[in-house]
Amino acid sequence: MEHKINAYNNLLELIGNTPLIKLNKVAAPLTGNFYAKVEGFNPGHSAKDRIAIHIIEEAERRGILKKGSTIIETTSGNTGFSIAMISIIKGYDCILAVSSKSSQDKIDMLRSMGAKVYVCPAHVSADDPRSYYEVAKRLHEETEGSIYINQYFNELNADAHYHSTGPEIWDQTNGHITHFIACSGTGGTISGTAKYLKEQNPEIRVIGVDAYGSVLKKYHETGELDNNEIYPYRIEGLGKNLIPTATNFKIIDEFVKVTDEESAHTAREISRSEGIFVGYTSGAVMQAVKQLNELGEFDENSNVVVIFPDHGSRYMSKIYSDQWMADQGFFDTKNIEEPQKIEF
Ligand code: PMP
Repeated sequence: MEHKINAYNNLLELIGNTPLIKLNKVAAPLTGNFYAKVEGFNPGHSAKDRIAIHIIEEAERRGILKKGSTIIETTSGNTGFSIAMISIIKGYDCILAVSSKSSQDKIDMLRSMGAKVYVCPAHVSADDPRSYYEVAKRLHEETEGSIYINQYFNELNADAHYHSTGPEIWDQTNGHITHFIACSGTGGTISGTAKYLKEQNPEIRVIGVDAYGSVLKKYHETGELDNNEIYPYRIEGLGKNLIPTATNFKIIDEFVKVTDEESAHTAREISRSEGIFVGYTSGAVMQAVKQLNELGEFDENSNVVVIFPDHGSRYMSKIYSDQWMADQGFFDTKNIEEPQKIEF
């Protein structure tokens, strides 16, 4: 006889339905009420689980993916981890083409999750046959029954958030949300979520967060890609040097730019003050909120929802390393606190 066991059938059932958590400390000096949708609670520790499962299951519905098929993507980050995790559970092969700029930690993490990783030279143009875009495209063409996720140019990216993140936030706030603020990389999170929210209430203000060194804000304002805006920056996952078609620029009311340094400090502040261990772009979105507060964007009745896209554990050798912070000039080496050592 089968007993009633309260278990999930597998990890995939835990994707989405992440908590909305009131920010009590980091937002205390600000005007209004602030809530974070904490995407680190997804089983793959980021919002990218949502797009990976949505795109993969859509390909299954269309009969493109079958057991043993191959899923290909160009990423060393969160999307790669999510695809690798889902591939294990569903029985697919996962190939990830990454840039030689990716840290060994990230490559090891993806390989730990069974992904086959191709490391491609970082300093070649996107149309060079050795670039990770071209390698992924070639592998896709050569591998029968494979799919290429192509998150920057895949309309199903925003669609995933339209069907999950948007309705969840609307329900969790009982429709009382006034502002939605999110970092924009592919633009999938902000575009899909905002589309759902604005359909419920067109008055909701939608604000995107961009990095200094990225083209998104300027493109939003002028409709032109300005190469002068492009220079290297540290924050990963936010901003871009090209215009992703996954972004619906029309639905975004405004973009705010943030610096590497302030975003890093704000991420550390969130972890230490709220106890929510967050990634670099969670610092970026909260830094944008602080800047908007200074500009008088909010009042006492504002209910502001921000997205914290991923978990802090992915940034141990970056923003959570005092030495890294000092190496970037974000931190005075005098401030580095060594842990207490007990002699034995
Ligand atoms: N933060 C992190 C850590 C990310 O990996 C990404 C995805 N590139 C984003 C924010 C931005 O999300 P989206 O791609 O949906 O715009």
